[in-house]
Amino acid sequence: MAVGVLALQGSYNEHIAALRRIGVKGVEIKKPEQLRGVDSLIIPGGESTTMAKLAELHNLFPALREFVGSGNPVWGTCAGLIFLANKAVGQKTGGQELVGGLDCTVHRNFFGSQLQSFEIELVVPKLAEKEGGTNTCRGVFIRAPAILEVGPNVEVIADLPVSSDQPKVVLPAIDGQEEREFTDDKVIVAIKQGNLLATAFHPELTSDSRWHRYFMAMVEEAKQEATPSEALVKYD
Ligand code: GLN
Repeated sequence: MAVGVLALQGSYNEHIAALRRIGVKGVEIKKPEQLRGVDSLIIPGGESTTMAKLAELHNLFPALREFVGSGNPVWGTCAGLIFLANKAVGQKTGGQELVGGLDCTVHRNFFGSQLQSFEIELVVPKLAEKEGGTNTCRGVFIRAPAILEVGPNVEVIADLPVSSDQPKVVLPAIDGQEEREFTDDKVIVAIKQGNLLATAFHPELTSDSRWHRYFMAMVEEAKQEATPSEALVKYD
């Protein structure tokens, strides 16, 4: 089955091209009913408030929440990570609607403005373990978010040391905690929680296919897990 790629705004064409390079068909998802035709989804990078407004306009939030809640593999890159987070901070004005599902707090523009975009070599042992090659990958961070806190069921796949010219980040008072400055020396940039994968950077903008293959392995695994119970239902 083809992989759905949310195609409201942002780097969806690049994800579809990256999937094509590994022989997988990606299909654009613009309407809620199109989600019925796929069993996995990539939410691309872009601009999360614009993407949220378009998702609202197309009445996609309930269908996206149901899709994530049913355990289908979903990968969010950059703005897609923000979409999947249970909590997002760092909005200039008010809040924005999120799909949620990932037990984490994300800062929307952690590294600063567009001008503070950067590329860096990331150490990702898990990627090398599963997909071979070196244990590093090129991380393309474009006005990127970062993950500040994760819940107990979240696996951290990659983090980054916080650089000395990191802009000051103040976390608002949430969940009964007081407002505080983020002072950790590391920040999380890739996580996995069950069938959900999220990266703060853009693997679709590099020629390294390992992240797309890694996601496809998650899709394969989810299919294999689903098959026995479907078989049991048949014979019950
Ligand atoms: N920081 C951006 C946002 O708020 C995301 C940037 C990206 O996807 N490259 O949506």
